[in-house]
Amino acid sequence: MFPERTAIMLGEEPLLDYRELGRRAASIAASLKSDPGLSPGDRVALFMSNDVAYLEILYGIWWAGLVAVPINAKLHPKEAAYILENADAACLFCSDDLAASIETIADTLPALRRVFTPGSEDYARLQHAAPAPLTPRAPDDVAWLFYTSGTTGFPKGVMQTHRNLLTMTSCYFTDVDDVAPGDAMVYAAPFSHGAGMYHFPYLLRGALHVIPESRGFDPEELCRLSKSIGQLSLFAAPTMVRRLVEHIETHAVDPTGFKTIIYGGGPMYTEDIRKALSVMGNRFVQIYGQGECPMTITALSREHLADTAHPRWLERIASVGIAQSMVEVVTTDDRGVALPPGEIGEIRVRGDVVMAGYWNHPEASAAALQDGWLRTGDLGCFDDDGFLTLHDRSKDLIISGGANIYPREVEEVLLRHPGVHEVSVIGKPEAEWGEVVVAFMVADQVTVAELDALCLAHIARFKRPKHYHFIDALPKNNYGKVLKTALREELARYNPQQDLRTPEKS
Ligand code: AMP
Repeated sequence: MFPERTAIMLGEEPLLDYRELGRRAASIAASLKSDPGLSPGDRVALFMSNDVAYLEILYGIWWAGLVAVPINAKLHPKEAAYILENADAACLFCSDDLAASIETIADTLPALRRVFTPGSEDYARLQHAAPAPLTPRAPDDVAWLFYTSGTTGFPKGVMQTHRNLLTMTSCYFTDVDDVAPGDAMVYAAPFSHGAGMYHFPYLLRGALHVIPESRGFDPEELCRLSKSIGQLSLFAAPTMVRRLVEHIETHAVDPTGFKTIIYGGGPMYTEDIRKALSVMGNRFVQIYGQGECPMTITALSREHLADTAHPRWLERIASVGIAQSMVEVVTTDDRGVALPPGEIGEIRVRGDVVMAGYWNHPEASAAALQDGWLRTGDLGCFDDDGFLTLHDRSKDLIISGGANIYPREVEEVLLRHPGVHEVSVIGKPEAEWGEVVVAFMVADQVTVAELDALCLAHIARFKRPKHYHFIDALPKNNYGKVLKTALREELARYNPQQDLRTPEKS
């Protein structure tokens, strides 16, 4: 509708208009169909840091009726290889800096027919092929395989359908924010996760997509972009919000170039959101969602966050808001019976935004989807006005800087060391990151350096424990199950100065 409008900017520099973005998507689609010879439904992975080519590749994939598999660029190549194999990816787009690590494993992936690196000659040929017509898709066809780490430590591919993503996008307009021409979305968090999902409403409105030159989160850069581009919005994990607000306060930055900061993905402390509102004004919206129900369970609106005169304002800003318009949200007891307000239960969600299931994993799908409802694994409680407060996360998920870390995957790596007998990993609450990873170990003849090296060889850097505590035995119940609650209590009591057996790693 608006081919002349700028679509993509690198920092302050306009790079592509919508005509060119559409043309490139159609050319990439044509190439994917002809040279690797892909057919609708085939999986195409992206193992890329945020890049100006990200959106043209995503839309090229969808234009050809294929399924996108975005992989977090911070994952270890072995973790990426697991996802590529699990998804049976036929083609991979890989950033320059990650290409070398992938070359070594590409041979072990028989389904992988081609690897393209944006910026290469091969890639330029893709971009300039004669455009293909759009391949029609049905609403229940899978659009995005979103890999999320399960409690088993192995990531599962959430099948997000076109219907799911369309519903999520509609809810953005009804429950999160409106988008006007000239509005800009800046991608300071990875495209492969929540931040990348919010390109849909911006594309639908013909608005601007800004890739920061740093390719990541840099408060100073964001402030500069807000000043020069204006009407700038972003999705940010609570840790990022905190750092941005601190920067703005310390450097007395004028926040008016920011339009909306959507936060979520992990708990936001009340004090932090209060400070954010007082420093930056009424520019925040919270969302609560999960890969299985992308970005769309509840939202805490700008209006509710601003309603400081409300007698329950403090409780409200500590909540995750009310159910988004196109989903039903309930809390239930163990048998799935809905609970009244005031009682804590498991949060279940029903509606067009709920995933079709996990890719090639019927047991996990059956456990997560019951009687038409998604079991989120989160615990929460509604108040009389419909505001939902999260009480705990089941599954012992650790959320550090907005990234999910499942203890089991870290535990499995640490157990590879011959000197490690038992290990249990938990999250320690911490102001900067929300939580940091802490490992309790029963071990002998082990050094912290060896454990660090082991982690660096097998899992993403951000999953490596920040502290190791060496103890004589792990607390367990009668069934031999480790009592993580007891470890958390011990951690809360623990004083590193007094206990020489438990040296904290710097
Ligand atoms: P993911 O599937 O990686 O998006 O992780 C989803 C999980 O993050 C949810 O099941 C929640 O436990 C947590 N989460 C998401 N949004 C929020 C929020 N606004 N507040 C607290 N926790 C959240």
